[in-house]
Order: sequence, then structure tokens, then C-alpha cells
Amino acid sequence: MIDYNEKKLAVVTGGSRGIGKECALELAKVGYDIVITYAGNDDAANKTISEIKTLNVDAEAYKFDVSNSDECKENITKILEKHGKIDALINNAGITRDNLMLRLTNDAWDNVINTNLNSMFYMTQPIIKAMMKKRQGVIINMSSIVGIYGNAGQTNYSAAKAGVIGFTKSLAKEVASRNIRVNAIAPGFIQTDMTKDLETSKIVEAIPLKRLGEASDIAKTAKFLIVDAPYITGQVLCVDGGLVI
Ligand code: NAP
Repeated sequence: MIDYNEKKLAVVTGGSRGIGKECALELAKVGYDIVITYAGNDDAANKTISEIKTLNVDAEAYKFDVSNSDECKENITKILEKHGKIDALINNAGITRDNLMLRLTNDAWDNVINTNLNSMFYMTQPIIKAMMKKRQGVIINMSSIVGIYGNAGQTNYSAAKAGVIGFTKSLAKEVASRNIRVNAIAPGFIQTDMTKDLETSKIVEAIPLKRLGEASDIAKTAKFLIVDAPYITGQVLCVDGGLVI
């Protein structure tokens, strides 16, 4: 029997800032206790935790590198020991290291693939094990529209984000019978630290809805997929103002 009074726990990687922070706040608004993870920005993480706590849920931050398999395992073990379960996982942490192919370094390639794609495997494997035992769980993986339609100067990032889509669809098929849903969100151009240096006037012109996205546009979609969409799995939802129509 489902216990509707049971507290739920969501883990959001890269939850200190930007899209991850808004996702954490959106889930806190509907009563989820929150674990955010982050790489190093203690001030941002502490501020986010204080904001989440004003919504009367538990919130804690774990600092570790999602591109490091051992650190992911170690921290997920701690979270599971403390909470006994994880109901929702948002694999959101990501970076860009843009350059044209001829100038792209091995480091820029490896860092982006490790942080944006390999991290999904490192985070998901130990968590899905716990979800399978409970026969319940929801996972959202943050892709990007450039994983669908490409972008000059972002071969590393687009490859990682396309990989996220294949990962999402395959895992959705693998775990559906255990009542676990896995979807991806492909944001368009969202106003965060990641995009703050972009020249955006031409981009806005190309967006049918004629505005850049807000982190809250993505967060509302994540909340919808986690809370209100029990029959949706294996999908990639573009949240991009119509850019990829
Ligand atoms: P952001 O504002 O730059 O925030 C990135 C977050 O990821 C921060 O919390 C950062 O932690 C964390 N992070 C980065 N590297 C990490 C690592 N190695 N280990 C652990 N945490 C790490 O980025 P955003 O714009 O919100 O993007 C969030 C996700 O959406 C990313 O996957 C991005 O690729 C995707 N996305 C964004 C856009 C966009 O237009 N903004 C579009 C499409 C897809 P610290 O605070 O400690 O640095």
C-alpha cells in the first residue's frame, strides 16, 4: 500500500546554483526533503540550503566531484545510510569547455564527457540499486537541445548530451518493470551562470517564444515529470521556447 504521508527524498546534483537549485526548490515546495550536491561553491550551496529550509523541509548539501566514481559511491552510501532511500534523482551537474574541433584539447574533451555523461552512470548505478529494492523511483537526466541538433564549438558537450539521451532511453526500458521511471529534459538557452557570457540577441530572435528560458521553466518541468506524470518514461522533453520545432 502506498503511504501518502511518507516523506520523500530527492537528490539533485549541481543543486547549488542555476537549474539544479530551482529544481530543488520546486520539489521542496511539494514537500520533498532535499539533498543537493555541488563541486566547490560553498557560499552558493549554503545559501541554497537556507532558502530550501524556509519551505519547512529537510535540506543538506554534499560536496563531491560527480565525475569521480569513488566519490559518488562514498557519498551515496552516506545518504542512503542516513535516509534509508532515495525517491527521486535529478542528474543535473554539468559544465561546458567550448572550443572548435581544431583547438579542442584532450582535457576539455575528457572533463566534459566525465562530468556530463560518465557522472550519470556513477550516480545512477548505486541509487538505482536502492530504488529497485523499493520497487519505486524517478530519475531525470539533464540533456540539452544541442545533444539533439548539434552546435558548432560544442562537439564535446553535444556528444555528452546526446549520450545522456541514449542512456535515458535504455535505462527506462531496463527498469520500467520495477516501477522506476527515467526521463530526460533538453533545455534550450536558460539564463544561468553557464550562459551568462553568451551574446544572446541573435539567439532570442531564433526562439519562437522570443525569450531566453529561466531556471524555473526547467524546474517546473522536472517537478511535472517526477510528481504528475506517472505514465511517462523514456522521453526527452525539450524545454526551449520552441527552438527545436
Ligand atoms: P551552472 O549554473 O553552471 O551550475 C552548475 C552546477 O553543477 C553547480 O551546482 C556546480 O557546483 C555543479 N557542478 C559542476 N561540475 C561539477 C562536478 N564535477 N561535480 C559536482 N558538481 C558539479 O549550470 P546550469 O546552467 O544550471 O546547468 C545545469 C545543467 O543543465 C547542466 O547539465 C547543463 O549542461 C544543462 N543545461 C543548461 C543549459 C543552459 O542554458 N543553462 C542548457 C542546456 C542544458 P558548484 O556551484 O560547486 O560549482
